[in-house]
Amino acid sequence: MKSKRIRIKGLVQGVGFRPFIYLLANKHHIHGWIENRNDGVLVLAEGTESNLKSFIQKIPIEAPLASNIFSIDIFDEEFKNHDKFQIVKSKSTSAEITEISPDIAVCELCLKDIKQQEHRLHYPLVNCTHCGPRFSIIKDLPYDRHKTTMDAFPMCSICEEEYTMITNRRFHAQPVACNTCGPAYLLEYQNREFSDIHDILEMTSNLIDDGKIIAIKGQGGFHLACDATQEEAVSGLRKHKIREGKPFAVMIADIKSVSEYAYLNGSSKNLLSSWQRPIVLLESKKKTANSVCNELKTIGVMLPYMPFHYLLFEKLKTNAIVLTSGNVSNEPIIIENEKAKNSLSIYYDALITYNRDIYNRSDDSVAFVANEKSRLVRRSRGFAPSPIYQKANMDGIFAAGAELENCFAIGKGEQVILSQHIGDLKNLETLEFYAESIDRYKKLYRWSPSLAVADLHPDYLSTKYAKELNISFVQVQHHHAHIASCMAEHGLDEMMIGVSFDGTGLGDDGQFWGGEFLVCDLNDYQRITHFDYVPIPGGDKAIYEPWRTAVSYLYQYYKDDLFALDLDFLKNIPREELLFIIDMIKTKINSPLSSSAGRLFDGVSALLQICRKASFHAEAPMLLESIIDQNESGIYAYDPGKNISFKATFQELIQDIKNKIALSKIAAKFHNTIIQLIFGAVKNISEEYNLNKVVLSGGCFQNKYILERVERKLIEYGFDVYTHSKIPSNDGGIALGQIAIAAKKRELGLIK
Ligand code: ZN
Ligand code: ZN
Ligand code: FE
Repeated sequence: MKSKRIRIKGLVQGVGFRPFIYLLANKHHIHGWIENRNDGVLVLAEGTESNLKSFIQKIPIEAPLASNIFSIDIFDEEFKNHDKFQIVKSKSTSAEITEISPDIAVCELCLKDIKQQEHRLHYPLVNCTHCGPRFSIIKDLPYDRHKTTMDAFPMCSICEEEYTMITNRRFHAQPVACNTCGPAYLLEYQNREFSDIHDILEMTSNLIDDGKIIAIKGQGGFHLACDATQEEAVSGLRKHKIREGKPFAVMIADIKSVSEYAYLNGSSKNLLSSWQRPIVLLESKKKTANSVCNELKTIGVMLPYMPFHYLLFEKLKTNAIVLTSGNVSNEPIIIENEKAKNSLSIYYDALITYNRDIYNRSDDSVAFVANEKSRLVRRSRGFAPSPIYQKANMDGIFAAGAELENCFAIGKGEQVILSQHIGDLKNLETLEFYAESIDRYKKLYRWSPSLAVADLHPDYLSTKYAKELNISFVQVQHHHAHIASCMAEHGLDEMMIGVSFDGTGLGDDGQFWGGEFLVCDLNDYQRITHFDYVPIPGGDKAIYEPWRTAVSYLYQYYKDDLFALDLDFLKNIPREELLFIIDMIKTKINSPLSSSAGRLFDGVSALLQICRKASFHAEAPMLLESIIDQNESGIYAYDPGKNISFKATFQELIQDIKNKIALSKIAAKFHNTIIQLIFGAVKNISEEYNLNKVVLSGGCFQNKYILERVERKLIEYGFDVYTHSKIPSNDGGIALGQIAIAAKKRELGLIK
């Protein structure tokens, strides 16, 4: 007989880990104990050598779905001949604390329980150690019921029994509840309240099937819902939400029904049904109402993840409902029942709430599949606040993030905790959510910052916030941070080639960058080549008016000859407006220079008259990508000189327009040109600098056509290619890059 002490670190609390170990130990005739520690769990295991071996082997293989084992360390112990295996009471051992589990989609067994268990029949907030709310209800650590928003609901005797029985699936499930003791739903419709779950489901499904709009409290915030197949309902919601073109996410009853609406493969099926249940961007079959995603050929789909969603689909006639975040214009998603009533009532016909508070707001996460790998676009519900492990000391560093799609990050030991999606830091409400969340992370993680890192842009609210902390402060260049974020995701720290393409970010020469080829490590970067600078008339205004950028490109390459170009695009611009824009460019008034790849895509999209004005960020490039003819392999010329010039590209592209070549072919040829030029530049840099590792980052790599082809082509030619999967390539991932750079600089003694 042997004895081992096993220390397991990672996300092992609040996910049913101790009962799992208990049952596994019994199965393998292991005696000893398991105990929760602040930094993980500790197991003392005694048994025969072969039993111990198979017990230890099975731990990482059979661990609960939502757990995430970071390390297992095994030490020899003196054999004490324990007579059984038991779960012993937790004792705190250090200031280091365990991870906080993200929210987990309801599990199969719980869905069965609400059909069978008497005290839980139709109970819409059922959960167990394998599923249910976590981060969204946690107010403090260690994770315990009285430190969550479940503290208002004392357990009934049946729940208490389940909670205390080791072999029960609800052993120490902090949010355990039932019809007798748990929180409950409420429907408010035409000044009447309904609290019986059968009434609520019956009425809600009838209202949705009748084309009405319902506000429903979700896991991390409110949603607005309506039948996704009824044009009138969806366009009504769109009109109210002042959300002209931005696609709505759709929740579909089950995976089989999803295939009616979108094309699926193995990877996208897995992603859709994963316990994180993100919104997955899929190629649409256009069966929903047109207003769901307008001209876009992709649709954002998610599967039900709360028991209430499942119960609702059992009653609904439609198998697809729009489920868009319940917020006012660009403000954060609403989490309070009262606020939903006050601010959303103009949108909805009926309101559904429940009386358990949401403490930490978290939006639905968004992902897509490229080259069979899942790629997060928004990392929030189901993913945050899972830490990202680094091999360097991150402790005490606060990374402010950028401006759009903001997430911030905090460094705790060797972990980086990237926040849930905060949003575009452009209004007071979002800034308040940002500041409040930072304060909550400080408290939750018993953490305080000693070093702050932010973007180079002095006017970002995130930069200002970080600066005002009055601690050691460093600013990092936006595109370097993008590359560093991908390096940190892959645990890299060496000289590499970085391709950083996005909408915009301030460069160290005061211009706006975004089509950048860097040679960099975590500490520093060199800008090797970039897209030719063009003036952006109106600056930020051009983001929503891509036609301005198109005019600027034409003026750049044709000067006053552009008036002789016989283009519908130009004819459709009122003469005075055209002259006004050209005058702005000539006189350099409010026309910052930009090397942005995003703006180039904008310009081409406008020139082809696919998107002259954008109603949401990146609409023009998304529409351009969505019309691509996949069979077109042609490319346009470009000049890869010191700075990459698109003069020849525009000349050939305009010739194609005049020759009435299909827009789908022109869009494909343009994309192919970008793919070719990335490949060409990387190849040159690789030869000159003797580097073989390439990192692709920045929002443009959310373009699936480009990401898949660039990645494949570089791999084919023998490059080691690193792309994002778990961290967004857009500005939502930038805080990770900022923190990695700051940690490196501190390690080198360059900052304190
Ligand atoms: Zn469950
Ligand atoms: Zn109960
Ligand atoms: Fe960016």
